[in-house]
Amino acid sequence: MAYQCEECGYSVTRRNSLCEDWNDEDRSFGCPECGTFYRRVGKSLKSGNIGGLLGAGVGTPTVILFGYGLQTDDKLVLLLSGVVLLSLLGLLALTSSKIGVTYQPSGYRVDIDSSGSQE
Ligand SMILES: [Zn+2]
Repeated sequence: MAYQCEECGYSVTRRNSLCEDWNDEDRSFGCPECGTFYRRVGKSLKSGNIGGLLGAGVGTPTVILFGYGLQTDDKLVLLLSGVVLLSLLGLLALTSSKIGVTYQPSGYRVDIDSSGSQE
């Protein structure tokens, strides 16, 4: 997963990132281009919880309805519950994709140029 540096726009990944100290979260992920360090922050799971609640609240009766449609061979019920389930899955995919790890400037920064072999 690449993170675009807020300072210079460089794509920082786990592979090319600067690391001064793995034990210090403020200094373990830095932009190799400008030396700005970022801290890993877990995003709030609130939207995920809402998605989960919605999924359980709407999904469960829809699955029951779908089962009912299968039993009675009611095509309309099958179609409607299928559409609801599909859109619900899409919604869940959307909300869960927003949850994840992001980075914010840790306040720590190194001077890249001074450590280079220029001059
Ligand atoms: Zn940068």
